[in-house]
Amino acid sequence: MPEGDTVYRTARRLDALTGQVLTTSDFRIPSLAEVDLVGRTVLETVSRGKHLLTRLADGVTIHSHLKMEGRWDVQAAGSTWHRPAHEARAVLGTAKTEAIGFSVLLDVVPTASEHTLVGHLGPDLLGPDWDPQLAVERLQRLPHVAIGEALLDQRNLAGIGNVYRAETCFLAGVAPRTPVSEVPNLPRMVALAHRMLDVHRDRASRITTGDRRPGRRLWVYGRQGPCLRCGTTILLDELGPEGQERTVWWCPSCQPPR
Ligand SMILES: [Zn+2]
Repeated sequence: MPEGDTVYRTARRLDALTGQVLTTSDFRIPSLAEVDLVGRTVLETVSRGKHLLTRLADGVTIHSHLKMEGRWDVQAAGSTWHRPAHEARAVLGTAKTEAIGFSVLLDVVPTASEHTLVGHLGPDLLGPDWDPQLAVERLQRLPHVAIGEALLDQRNLAGIGNVYRAETCFLAGVAPRTPVSEVPNLPRMVALAHRMLDVHRDRASRITTGDRRPGRRLWVYGRQGPCLRCGTTILLDELGPEGQERTVWWCPSCQPPR
């Protein structure tokens, strides 16, 4: 499931297009069917939380989002695709390289308007301008909201998904339903989340426990049965704004409810 670390690595893969001129621009969604970017040079791709911004010459940005299943494959031009063609939403090609966006959400916007897509985001955990103090302040704006919900709200800090919210709450020893105002050490919690994403920015497999064995890599996310640390049965809960609840796993002993 794409979280900030996955999106960051995707941006680094898309760096293979940087400095090259597009020779193919094939958008396979109705809203972009008329868009033709052939002849434009790719300047860079940056990630902002879970969003990708591929900037082209002359002030055009391709905005993409991986949602639950999306990915960008970047490979030598003419190579075999690794996913079915009907899942392709965009093909960007240069003389050397081909990038195929499978099951991604896409927009093409003026670079000057990027803020309309990502301006609402809180500080990016993997951004060059990461600001932990600002992230703490944003979290504190709604003190009554459950921390497990606040960590997923990309307006507070950008990049945490369902895996890292569960693992962050566990490592902080905080039950996910704890209101933000009752979290004992919010700066430490934000620092834990940052450290976890930062460690994984260049790694494909997520290991928060330090144990590489299958089934023991994550403390609580997706876990059934005993807690890896204390043996208490892991509980699960549905947490999120109404209609957007997602499962969170937690240990009632390591993360005692307040
Ligand atoms: Zn435990």
